[in-house]
Amino acid sequence: MPSVKDNFNAVMKQVRDAAVSCGRNPDEITLIAVSKKKQIPVIMEGINAGAAHLGENYLQEAVKKIDAIGNTKICWHFIGHLQTKKARSAVKYFEYIHTVDRIKLAKEINKHAAKINKVQKILLQINIGNEETKSGAALQDIHELADQVMQLDNLSLEGLMCIPPYNPDPELTRPYFRQLAQIREELAEKFKTAEIMKHLSMGMSNDFKIAIEEGATMIRVGTSIFGKRE
Ligand SMILES: *Cc1c(COP(=O)(O)O)cnc(C)c1O
Repeated sequence: MPSVKDNFNAVMKQVRDAAVSCGRNPDEITLIAVSKKKQIPVIMEGINAGAAHLGENYLQEAVKKIDAIGNTKICWHFIGHLQTKKARSAVKYFEYIHTVDRIKLAKEINKHAAKINKVQKILLQINIGNEETKSGAALQDIHELADQVMQLDNLSLEGLMCIPPYNPDPELTRPYFRQLAQIREELAEKFKTAEIMKHLSMGMSNDFKIAIEEGATMIRVGTSIFGKRE
């Protein structure tokens, strides 16, 4: 069985190779190791192998881990569905929140960030495959949501995130990645602020190479690093 360290190194190499083969600078791509449902000793193996960005989906579980592991060496990313009532805790613990998909949630995050003098980095999640079972803003609502988020002083709009419909053939996921990149382009053009909207959080174990080819700047990889989840 390969170790977490072996897995992490292999994924890093695949990320670099994918970037270079499509003419991108590998340094533009942040590998987020998704540690949901994994225990602290296993996560520590990832950290010791060099993982500096970790992604978590469930707030209560994440809070325990972050309290134990700390946030000085690790940048924590919240990538799960966020209930409005848990916004305070998400703001306290996470550097990035990838899953803002409604104005009510954005306002609540903004309010709690203001209270602790923080500018919270967020991404807008788009339900790119228009799937009933998935979170994320509808495509037709994204411009209005982005406009409103831009009015909130304690939010920094960093980019867009999506979880496309699963397909065992990652090539079939490409059009969704391409569409997310196009929407990012539109919004960046509209707001014309250099520092915002630079990120595309897309690509998981099965399809991160394709995501990189389509412009991903943050990929979220769990299984290929930490193994299958229970
Ligand atoms: C679990 C999860 C991942 C990681 O998925 P793998 O297929 O295990 O790499 C990435 N993004 C989100 C939002 C997830 O929930």
